[in-house]
Amino acid sequence: MRYEEPVFRPPSEAKSLILQVTIGCSYNRCTFCGMYKTKRFRIRPIEEVLEEIDWASREYPFVRRAFLADGDPLCLPEDHMLKILEALYRAFPCLERVSTYATPQNILEKSNEELKRIREAGLQLLYIGVESGSDKVLKMVKKGVTHSQIVEALNRAKEAGFTLSTTFVLGLGERDLWLEHAKESARIVNETAPHYTAALTLMLIPKTVLHFQAKKGMFKIPTYRGIMKEMLAFVEDINVETVFRSNHVSNLVPIKATLPRDKERLINELVGYILEAPEEPLPSTWLGPV
Ligand code: SF4
Repeated sequence: MRYEEPVFRPPSEAKSLILQVTIGCSYNRCTFCGMYKTKRFRIRPIEEVLEEIDWASREYPFVRRAFLADGDPLCLPEDHMLKILEALYRAFPCLERVSTYATPQNILEKSNEELKRIREAGLQLLYIGVESGSDKVLKMVKKGVTHSQIVEALNRAKEAGFTLSTTFVLGLGERDLWLEHAKESARIVNETAPHYTAALTLMLIPKTVLHFQAKKGMFKIPTYRGIMKEMLAFVEDINVETVFRSNHVSNLVPIKATLPRDKERLINELVGYILEAPEEPLPSTWLGPV
């Protein structure tokens, strides 16, 4: 496979065939994100992608899962995406699941019929970075969508039959907006009931706008205790069924639960973590050279 590095994939796609169908992120403006800053967005020519599928089908004929990279392949025009899905299922007889990263914008740009046809062609799982439910935070980090647009996007994708795995970033509301960030994020979960909800912890990535703002004191880095309080406020308000995970490398403690079933147990655990967590800012090692 001819990968254009760096290539990112969710932890749960560790055993999947990673197929780079786009390079970079078509949006690429979120102030906290450094994933695709070194890449100029482009769609890989379909011939190139089909060649790779062909090659991979000879090398790894028993592929069961495939993940489409890079940042937001759901931005591909419908016919382009359908060609890729059709080729994948034809090439790999054991293929059970195809998934990809998607932005709320990608979903909003497609009609319900387009989403349904893509879903029926075999794209099943969308990993969607929601980041926050607070309009103030979304605006501050230049996410490019509002709370209500995110709700519309998630509900339309669900209606089309997609499984949704959403991620939120603890700490994005800094020290002033943390409670609103937590509560509004929970409200998005309640309004959309994604199948999976993940809470990551903010990492300040060198060469991002947010890193620069933190370095200049324009963004108040949250404390360990603040992050745990934020997680508690987030979890307390979630009232719909969702598999909750906070076990990314960025997280301070690994947390797994099914909500709302395990809410009480989780709240008790979090209260304990709050009492133990230091009132110090998150690691300054993330504040490397600008
Ligand atoms: S967070 Fe997602 S949408 Fe925003 S720049 Fe990064 S990859 Fe693109």
